[in-house]
Amino acid sequence: MEDIILSLKNIAFSYHSLNGEIKALNNISFSVKTGEFLAIVGPSGCGKSTILSLIAGLLQPESGDITFYTKDPQDKKPGIGYMLQHDHLFEWRDIYKNVMLGLEINKQMTPEKKEKVLAMVDDYGLTPFLHKKPSELSGGLKQRAALVRTLALEPEILLLDEPFSALDYQTRLTVSADICRIIRSAGKTAILITHDLSEAVSLAERVIVLSNRPARVKAEIPIHLTLKDDSPLASRNAPEFKDYFNLLWEELTDES
Ligand code: ADP
Ligand code: MG
Repeated sequence: MEDIILSLKNIAFSYHSLNGEIKALNNISFSVKTGEFLAIVGPSGCGKSTILSLIAGLLQPESGDITFYTKDPQDKKPGIGYMLQHDHLFEWRDIYKNVMLGLEINKQMTPEKKEKVLAMVDDYGLTPFLHKKPSELSGGLKQRAALVRTLALEPEILLLDEPFSALDYQTRLTVSADICRIIRSAGKTAILITHDLSEAVSLAERVIVLSNRPARVKAEIPIHLTLKDDSPLASRNAPEFKDYFNLLWEELTDES
C-alpha cells in the first residue's frame, strides 16, 4: 500500500454570513503521500485557502472526512505548519526572536530544540542576520526566516498558501527553488497553493487542478520531468516542461 499521510473524502464546505450562504467546496477528494510535494492550482476565489484551513483544523467540513495517518498510533494527527503569502515576521523582534517564536509560545524552548533551530538558521544562511530586524532583510531572506520559524516546531505536513506571491519575479524564482529544496531535504510533506503554473510544474510531484467555486477536483496531473533531480530552476528547461504547463493552462482556461 502506498504511504498516505492525509486523505480528504467528499469534502463539502460553505461559508454562512448575513448575506447568505457561499458554497466554497463541493465533493473534494484527494490524498497526499508521505514526503510528497503536492501543488494545488485553481481560479481565484475557488476555495483553495479554504482547503488548507480545513486540513489545518481551523474550519470543520460540512460533510466528508479528513483522515490523517501517522506512524505513531498514539499520535492522532501529524504536526502541521502553515506558511502564508506574507511572512508575518514581527518587526519588533529580531530574526532570532522571530524564528524562536513558535518554541516560545509552545513552551518548548529546550536547549536541544534551540540548537536545532540555530542549525537550520545556519544551514539556510541566516546566521549573519540573527540580530537584525525583519525590515533589514530582503524578501527572500524573510521568507526563509519564516520557513525556519515554521519548521522549528517540526511539523510533518507543511501548508503553503501562495508563500511566494508577494515577491518580485526574479526573487520568486530563486526563493521558491530554495524553499522547495529545504522542504525536500527535511523530508516534509508539502501542499503548495499557487496561481503560478510554472511554479507548480517546477516544484511539485503532482498538481491538482480545481474548478471554479464551488471547487471540485478537475484534474490530477503527476509531473515527471527529466531534469527533476536538478534544481527546480533547471527543471524549467526540461523538454516536457511546456507540455505540462500547456496541459494545466488548458484545464484552467476551460474554467474561465
Ligand atoms: P481562494 O483561496 O481559492 O482564492 P478561498 O478559499 O479564500 O479562495 O475562498 C473561497 C470563497 O469563499 C471565495 O469566494 C471567498 O470570497 C469566500 N470566503 C472565504 N472566506 C470567507 C468568509 N470568512 N466568509 C464568507 N465567505 C468567505
Ligand atoms: Mg487563497
